[in-house]
Formats: sequence, C-alpha cells, structure tokens
Amino acid sequence: MALVNEHFLKLPGSYLFSDIAKRVNAYKVTHPDTPLIRLGIGDVTCPLPAACIEAMHRAVDEMADAKSFHGYGPEQGYGFLINAIIKHDFAPRGINLSPSEVFINDGAKSDLGNIGELLRWDNSMGITDPVYPVYVDSNIMCGRSGVLNEEGKWSNVTYLPCTAENGFVPAIPDHRIDLLYLCYPNNPTGTTLTYGQLKQWVDYALANDTLIVFDAAYEAYIREPDVPHSIYEIRGAKKVAIEIRSFSKNAGFTGVRCGYTVIPKELTVATLNEERIPLNPLWNRRQCTKFNGTSYITQRGAEAVYSADGQKQVKATIDYYMENARIMREGLKSAGLEVYGGVNAPYIWLKAPRGLSSWKFFDKLLYDINIVSTPGVGFGPSGEGYLRLTAFGRREDCIKAMERISDWKI
Ligand code: PLP
Repeated sequence: MALVNEHFLKLPGSYLFSDIAKRVNAYKVTHPDTPLIRLGIGDVTCPLPAACIEAMHRAVDEMADAKSFHGYGPEQGYGFLINAIIKHDFAPRGINLSPSEVFINDGAKSDLGNIGELLRWDNSMGITDPVYPVYVDSNIMCGRSGVLNEEGKWSNVTYLPCTAENGFVPAIPDHRIDLLYLCYPNNPTGTTLTYGQLKQWVDYALANDTLIVFDAAYEAYIREPDVPHSIYEIRGAKKVAIEIRSFSKNAGFTGVRCGYTVIPKELTVATLNEERIPLNPLWNRRQCTKFNGTSYITQRGAEAVYSADGQKQVKATIDYYMENARIMREGLKSAGLEVYGGVNAPYIWLKAPRGLSSWKFFDKLLYDINIVSTPGVGFGPSGEGYLRLTAFGRREDCIKAMERISDWKI
C-alpha cells in the first residue's frame, strides 16, 4: 500500500487567483459590455529582448547540425552563462564567486521550492509577511511549517509583519530561526531594505546560525543607491545566505524559464553532532540526481541578456514598466490614496481607505471603476487591508486606470 505524504493534505487550496477569476467572471456576467483594466497581473507583457531572440535562433540552428548539436548539458549549467553572470551581476559589486558556486535553474520558483530538501524537516522557519506564497507552501509539503492555527498562521513559522506601521521593515526576532526567507525587492509590497537594514539580518544570521534564502527575482528594478542588489554585498553573507535570481522579470523569461542559484562554498549548516556541512556539494549532488539542466537554447538566450544590445533592450523594458509604476503611484497619490512600493520594484502596494478589507476594496475597484487588482490578504495575514497593483501592464491601460481613479469618489 502506497501511503500518501499527509503534509500535502494540509496545504490550503491556492484560492487567490481562482477567487479573483470567479469575482471577475460574476461581474462580467452582469456587465458584459464593460471593458476591464487588469492591473493585478504578475506576469510580464513585453516581448523578449531582440538580442535573446537572435541568440536563441542561432542556438536552434546549431541543434540542426550534428557537428554543433547539444544533447544533455552540465546539470549545473553551461560555463558561458555562469561566467557571464559572475562577470556582470557580481564582479562589478566587488563580489567574487567561482563558477562552481552558481547553479543555472529553470526559473527561480523550482529552486526556491526545492532548496529546503537540503535541511532536516524540523528546522524552524521564518518569513516576512506578506510575501510570495511559495516559501511557506513548499515547507508545508515536508511538514516543516507545522500545523495551521485559528488565526490562519502555521505553528512552526515565525511571521515577520511588514506593514505601513513599521515602514515595511521587519523587526529582528527575539528568538532563533533556523531557516529564513527574505525577498527584496519584495513581492507583493514592492518595498526594499537599505544596506544597513539588510546588514542587521546578516548579523542576526551569523549570530544565530540561521540560513537565509535571499530571493532577488526583482533585483533589476532597483533604482535607489542605498539598496543592495545582492545579499553578498553585505560582509559575512557568504557564510549564511543562498541567493536566487531569475531572468523572468528582467528579460521576460516567464515562459522561457531560466534563473540561477548561488551557493557559496563557505556556507555551512550543522549536523546534530555540530559537525559543519557545506551546502554547495549537497546541492550539486541533488541537482545531478534530480535535474538534467536548463536547455542549451534557453541558456544561450539568457547569455544574450548580458550582451551590449541585450543590456540596452532589458533596460528599455524595465524603464517602460517603471514609468508605468510612476504614473500609477502619482495617480493614486493624487487621488488621496496611501501608496507604497513602485520605486525599486514593479509592484505597488495600496492601503485600502477607511479600514476596508482587502476583498471589500477589491470589489469596490472592480464595480466602481472596473479595475482588477490582487487582494493583499492573499499574500499573508499582514496583507489584510491592502491591494497589490502591478506595473507589468500596457501604458495606455495604466493611464486610463489613473483617469478613472482621479474621478472616483472612493
Ligand atoms: N520569486 C518571486 C518573489 C516571484 O514573485 C516570482 C514570480 O512571480 C518568482 C520568484 C518566480 O520566478 P520564476 O519565473 O523565475 O520562477
């Protein structure tokens, strides 16, 4: 008899986007002729940079000839992409990495979800709240999150609230957390930590033997000077942090699938006998067993992100999204709304007025001015009373939405 992993049965349904779809469909049934503006979308909309398209075309042609054909590649990724990553993303910031510390993946989500396999199930864990739901859900699957209590929180998870009251800067806990997820720039709040604030977390991790999983999927959106692009800009971070990045949101690879994970050689965790074990060879072993690499064509496309043309094209796309963000921030502010994020991230975090709940405000936006958003409570208990809007839409939609908001009696 095959017995099920019962932890999967504890997983709450992923209702957020289906609940949104249900409410939007109900609206459309009663208002079939009203066009909706969708500002809830978390996917990019601009096409791939031309440099990536050209590189992938060339790679396809290589595959057509036995002399240049590529079969299985290295599980860790091709050297040409790893070297380009080190040269462009880390060396200019004074971070030295060796090629064996970088693992190419098929997008950040897989590694964010799988990395916990390297750790015992009974480590304690912490997340900032609200946050990208993959961190908690992937830990529920192995039993690490514990059980769900009446407040909708998991018993073995320390929630670090990030709200307007604390400026979206999580307070350092007064107890030890073994495994901590940090996501900066943050999805969904669009907020960041300064060098000084991130340093406090690295110092906490060094003092408490905490492993930090640092999700930098939105690094390319950072504009302000006092915001670290990599956790390894902070002294000592290589001893305590894994960093995971993605080509999804800078180069539009959401449908192509490529990212990378950095596991420094100095990063170790403990056995019960307090022996230190480096995670890099463990992850390498895991990948060689369970992963056969990201496709050659995809990796050639990702390499082109770092070409001179690729860099210009990526910048143009990010500038386009960030101009959307600026238009939205200003429109929302001049309508008297409390707005956060959207400066170093493509996400805008909007406080519901008059103490409305996330879903009440969602419905009001939908019914009054036909805008689709994402209720903040879907990202964690501290997201209640907020909405997420994204800048990934089309310019004309952002402008039209702000016109509607400026005439709106909230
Ligand atoms: N991390 C965060 C914070 C995200 O918001 C997303 C996607 O929306 C991902 C990771 C996943 O990225 P990828 O497309 O590389 O799997």
